[in-house]
Amino acid sequence: MQESSLQGLINIAIDGPAGAGKSTVARRVAELLRYVYIDTGAMYRAVTLSALRAGIEPDHSERVSRMAASLDIRLLPSENGQKVLLNGEDVTEQIRSREVNLHVSQVAAVEQVRTQLVGLQRVLAGRKGVVMDGRDIGTHVLPDAELKVFLTASVRTRAERRYKETGQADRIDLEQLEREIAERDQKDREREISPLICADDAVVIDSTSMTIGQVVSQIVELSRTKKVEAK
Ligand code: C5P
Repeated sequence: MQESSLQGLINIAIDGPAGAGKSTVARRVAELLRYVYIDTGAMYRAVTLSALRAGIEPDHSERVSRMAASLDIRLLPSENGQKVLLNGEDVTEQIRSREVNLHVSQVAAVEQVRTQLVGLQRVLAGRKGVVMDGRDIGTHVLPDAELKVFLTASVRTRAERRYKETGQADRIDLEQLEREIAERDQKDREREISPLICADDAVVIDSTSMTIGQVVSQIVELSRTKKVEAK
């Protein structure tokens, strides 16, 4: 028996569209369970930032993949959740810019980029005890995750949440933000490789009328049941 299963550790996959609250929820669940939190969107964002800085068109798959292969992307735990290092530089803030938001789905549709990042994600989850959020975690990255959650909310609610989080410099009006979120969702849902879909065995949580605390409690509760089942 593996050491991880003796300790009763499981992997938790949290997928869903942009702004559904995945990262906040995943981070809190990880804190409560003393698990490791892994934000896979941050990895695709780091590759996108790097492409934009190098003047590479985000949909030029060949150039993007070549550049991605040369990058050193690290996720480190920090007080505010997670620090993202790109070739040793702290890019935690920069990867959240509107420019990155607008192009990340194109970069995330490049097959070699996905293969590279998925490999890294699977290594990080290898010892279990991980809460990983993204779009394809339950369907592709960790199909054997003991608990899969598909977290969603209405597009308006998601736009409102993002609006509140956005700094003044990057702020655009709510309607525009709602359109941009809907477009990103559409690209993520319609791409050929590992699109955003709900895994058959995922628990769907619609957080439109829920608080973060309620969502977190529900997932922690579910994880307890799954832990018992996994033993
Ligand atoms: O989660 P976040 O909004 O930061 O993700 C940014 C983008 O990264 C998504 O819109 C999607 O295009 C891509 N992504 C992905 N697969 C994941 C995580 C994120 O394609 N597992």
